[in-house]
Amino acid sequence: MADKITPRATDYSQWYIDIVLNAKLADYSPVKGSMVIRPRGYAIWERIQAEMDRRFKETGHENAYFPLLIPMSFLQKEADHVKGFKPELAVVTHAGGEELEEPYCIRPTSETIIWAMYKNWIQSWRDLPLLYNQWANVMRWEKRTRLFLRTSEFLWQEGHTAHETQKEAEEEALRMVEVYRDVVERHLCVPVLMGMKSEAEKFAGAVHTLSIEAMMQDKKALQAGTSHYLGQNFAKAFDVQFQNREGKLEHVYATSWGTSTRLVGAVIMTHSDDKGLVLPPSLAVDQVVIVPILRNDSKVAVIAHAEGLLATLKAAGVRARLDSDDSQSPGWKFAEWEMRGVPVRVEVGPKDMAAGHVMFARRDTGEKFTVPAGEIGTKAVEVLEAIQKNLFERAKKFRDDNTHVITNYDDMKAFFGLAGEDAAGTANAKGGFADALWCGDAVCETRLKAETKATIRCLPHDRQEGIHGSCALCGAPARHRAVFARAY
Ligand SMILES: [Zn+2]
Repeated sequence: MADKITPRATDYSQWYIDIVLNAKLADYSPVKGSMVIRPRGYAIWERIQAEMDRRFKETGHENAYFPLLIPMSFLQKEADHVKGFKPELAVVTHAGGEELEEPYCIRPTSETIIWAMYKNWIQSWRDLPLLYNQWANVMRWEKRTRLFLRTSEFLWQEGHTAHETQKEAEEEALRMVEVYRDVVERHLCVPVLMGMKSEAEKFAGAVHTLSIEAMMQDKKALQAGTSHYLGQNFAKAFDVQFQNREGKLEHVYATSWGTSTRLVGAVIMTHSDDKGLVLPPSLAVDQVVIVPILRNDSKVAVIAHAEGLLATLKAAGVRARLDSDDSQSPGWKFAEWEMRGVPVRVEVGPKDMAAGHVMFARRDTGEKFTVPAGEIGTKAVEVLEAIQKNLFERAKKFRDDNTHVITNYDDMKAFFGLAGEDAAGTANAKGGFADALWCGDAVCETRLKAETKATIRCLPHDRQEGIHGSCALCGAPARHRAVFARAY
């Protein structure tokens, strides 16, 4: 049998770690705070990456690469930016056996080095827009880490764009957060809320930040991607001016946006169960596994038959594999493939072969049913589509069931429980998404955070019209509708 997985109801955090380790997605490394992404985990990232990259290119972006090391003085040019990132910086002071004249930091994000270069490349409106993306690793020193969700070094993409006008840049920031939403909902099957961050939660150096927020099975929020409208902050810090269409010099308008390997964590946490990993078919390396039931007298014939089924599946465009290893029992193999999250298992033994059918087992629902062997290709495609849809619907229902309208502070505290309660975090934890009106004052937000650890995840973009009523935290007239939650 596969290694034991702690049930979600017992200890959600341990359940998550058990899945990541047992499904061989990632491992701890000798470097504190840094993880090793193993091939099965990396393959999920590659699929996410491919979907993102295709959409970036469809929306006119190009990939480029900038240095890992950034002169410390660059970071200091944008006051809010350095203040936000300084506590997390790793700094290189020695190289080539000598102390460096100026230390470098390992990039925590690349706005500063990129805008230092944009200064050389942008002179006129004809040079705009610049729509660049970089796939890279970044480092933000973390004291408390969690595989995929929070590590000091992680992989990501960072888009950095330069525009002639505020309007164009704001449209770009919105366009890219919508790209994120599309990939995350369609391929990761994770429903998200999209909206603006509060001042307290926005990116250091941004005018405003848009984010997509998902709900995990312990009802905590996970920020799955952010897109920032940077205004002219970085252009001013790096003196990037262009001659506009009226012949006047003006500072360039900017955006930046990013998603990371944290998305792999989001997909694991959203769909998996107490048997192991559950993956959306579009991200699964193996979408179907054929497990033949092997007996000595019929082994050769059953394997030959299974090879034919494999060829049919592949011809139908399904990523399939055949597990003909006879050193393990079928039961052991079933549990192992369930642990690995393969969406569909096909069982075929001598009796099935004689009857002209195979047995399908769905990973998401556990449902089992027979399928005529001749229809295996079309049926597999159909079932994979159904699983993809079901995972999204199931996650959306869970989120909606755990989203509640809250109208006053006492209810808010009761909803989240006090900070410190439920420290282990289980799937039965209090809370969820609190849908509430907010006055816009950071004081209210800070107080709630101190007492319950809940923060404003976002001000949902499509729900800010016609706000009437009073702030659920202080009773003052409300200006926004906000979603509050505890978050990863
Ligand atoms: Zn208030």
